[in-house]
Amino acid sequence: MSGRVRSLIRVEGVVQGVGFRPFVHALASRYGLAGLVGNDGGGVFIEAEGPPSAVAALVEAVRERAPVLAVVERVSVTAVPPTGDGGFRIVPSVAGGPGRALVPPDVATCDDCLAELFDPADRRFRYPFVNCVNCGPRFTIITAVPYDRAVTTMAGFALCAACAREYHDPADRRFHAQPTCCPACGPRLALRAPDGTPLPGDPLTEAAALVAAGAVVAVKGLGGYHLAADAASEDAVAALRARKRRPDKAFAVMAADLAAARELCEVGEAAAALLTGPARPIVLLPRRAGAPVAPSVAPGGPDLGVLLPYTPLHHLLCRELARPYVLTSGNLADEPIAHDDEDALRRLGGVADAFLCHDRPIHAPADDSVLRVFRGTPAPVRRSRGYAPEAITLPWPFRRPVLACGAEQKSTFCLGQGHRAVLSQHLGDLEGHLALRAYTGEIERMRRLLGVEPEVVAYDPHPEYLSTKYALELDGVDVVAVQHHHAHIASCLADNGEAGPVVGVAFDGTGHGPDGTIWGGELLVASLSGYERAGHLERVPLPGGVSAIRQPWRMAAAYVGAAGLAAAGEPAGRLAVARRNARLWPAVSALAAAGGPAAPLTSSAGRLFDAVAALLGVRDAVTYEGQAAMGLEHLADPAVRDGYPVTVTGGAGSRLGGGRCATGSPGLVKDGHGATCALAAPVVIRSTDLVRAVVEDLRRGVPSPVIAARFHHGLAEAVVTAAGLIAEAAGIGTVALSGGVFANELLLGGVADGLRAGGFRVLTHRRVPCNDGGISLGQAAVAASL
Ligand SMILES: [Zn+2]
Ligand SMILES: [Zn+2]
Repeated sequence: MSGRVRSLIRVEGVVQGVGFRPFVHALASRYGLAGLVGNDGGGVFIEAEGPPSAVAALVEAVRERAPVLAVVERVSVTAVPPTGDGGFRIVPSVAGGPGRALVPPDVATCDDCLAELFDPADRRFRYPFVNCVNCGPRFTIITAVPYDRAVTTMAGFALCAACAREYHDPADRRFHAQPTCCPACGPRLALRAPDGTPLPGDPLTEAAALVAAGAVVAVKGLGGYHLAADAASEDAVAALRARKRRPDKAFAVMAADLAAARELCEVGEAAAALLTGPARPIVLLPRRAGAPVAPSVAPGGPDLGVLLPYTPLHHLLCRELARPYVLTSGNLADEPIAHDDEDALRRLGGVADAFLCHDRPIHAPADDSVLRVFRGTPAPVRRSRGYAPEAITLPWPFRRPVLACGAEQKSTFCLGQGHRAVLSQHLGDLEGHLALRAYTGEIERMRRLLGVEPEVVAYDPHPEYLSTKYALELDGVDVVAVQHHHAHIASCLADNGEAGPVVGVAFDGTGHGPDGTIWGGELLVASLSGYERAGHLERVPLPGGVSAIRQPWRMAAAYVGAAGLAAAGEPAGRLAVARRNARLWPAVSALAAAGGPAAPLTSSAGRLFDAVAALLGVRDAVTYEGQAAMGLEHLADPAVRDGYPVTVTGGAGSRLGGGRCATGSPGLVKDGHGATCALAAPVVIRSTDLVRAVVEDLRRGVPSPVIAARFHHGLAEAVVTAAGLIAEAAGIGTVALSGGVFANELLLGGVADGLRAGGFRVLTHRRVPCNDGGISLGQAAVAASL
């Protein structure tokens, strides 16, 4: 092998802000290569010159041994003439370039930085902004690409001599670490009163002392402000609830480390990996009996959301406080998280007793992500900080750039280009101008960062969603309406890298149905390119529309009527729920019976859970979505295995739980992938059977935990039967489960087990939530297939 070769190597994916250039620089030194490495708009470019075997070794290492935070999507190699270069250098970033580099998510403080943080001899001892090439803020501080300090919110902090030395030393962990800083040159903490005036003393010590004394302190984090309070103090947590106007929904608790988390909750292997991983989400875990947590932290459920510190500031607070503290998003009720300093003071001035802030601006808001672990596998509940804007790579390309606008609740949007679908961070419920502003602002920012000019815009056909209105006001784009439950199933398909066809079970609270009714308990034969509604839960009236969603007892009245219990002489007064709501029960029952626009029909699974929860006295009214259903799930007696029988009608006739379909008339349903569902009529799960059985057991005095369990098992078995009927008729062997109701582990487990026992493949969510937070991915995947 005589002579030298020179190769131009392009690396695409998440390769900026993850230590890629230092990694290449180190490789080049090891292999004795000359040349250069740099960032451009498309990723990392390398020119490597030397013996062919050494250049090949570098390419191999770039492909196979990239830094842990990098995601290498593509490496291309082109031969160029050798130049006789000596040495290897990192060259300045170049704007432009083919494609677009991906912006990395924020990364939790690494062990090396943590060691420095608590080393009294280190120059960054107790410095709350220590970070390096392996950790620190990214997504929330980046204002443009290619990623360099000048396009982060660290641009205003000039490096001191010591930091500059590290930054330019290829052997240093801070070599080209863009947000690097130290006490001499970087951001500083400040403690302020709610009116903005500075408070005396060391900000960190004083803030910790305030929390320890029962105060609520706003803490500026990576993606926004949080509110901190002593997790063991009922007074402090109750005050936080009252001021934040969040009566019931659980708060997350920050524990200092895994050992501290284990004092609060049962932490399995998968959960431990999530808690300590680079994304550091909130993980929902079974609370230990006697865990030192005030009752108001997480009322109404056995689980507790726990997270470990992910910034140096959190680590310092944990050390200072030496106890777990509530750390919840800095907002009022369902507003977006506050991330701008002035905005935080304005909005949280009435909530927090003090503000622990600093002068490193947050460019993009990002709430904490939330995951749970189901049978050892992580399941996202909210995909945000630490995950966004990591791309989901699809097996098929977007033919044209796509913007998918998502739904209304737990809103996200998705940008699709090439093989990449990039979901935004969680942007909250799109109600009110604050949420809408955050939503439209982030769409604009992400479009710029990713270099995506959408030509196709996918949206939910619900006419009242702000995301729908936004989509329909855009000029110069093709718009595609994607039905809500089709989008759920498409989301599950895309999550699993599949295109269908599948039988899709989409169970949630509410979605716009093309037949003018409110859908929410749907069985579809679906692929990405199309769907047919092959079955659904029995339709019942939704008396009073939105008020029936906030007051589950109204659904109990509707279901009691629909089940014929009122008409059949079941005196409503014998039901506790009717007695508790005696004043309005007759009117609501009459409203439901009359039907019409004030009581539209719904096949919603969420409303069925609401009705049963109210019948069992779990809740008559809710303050957040899914609250009654969660209570019902937690009420269920785990020792009870039997379920109520449910009639499943349709196809070749009526079946009772466990029945199988005899194929009816062929070829009724077709879609783009050639799936056919040969059912003569839609399959209907007669959910009033469940309500009748619940009322009968109530009348017999059967304990409500037994009834709750029988309800879950009965519904699960009916879903298995219905999906089986449809699958058999359509000749499909795979069932996808999606929609927020599948956050219910008892239902999810029962349905998945039953289907697998019947020989079906079952797809569930792994990377995006089953709730409306995952809808935008489904919309994008559908748009990509058109
Ligand atoms: Zn680090
Ligand atoms: Zn410095």
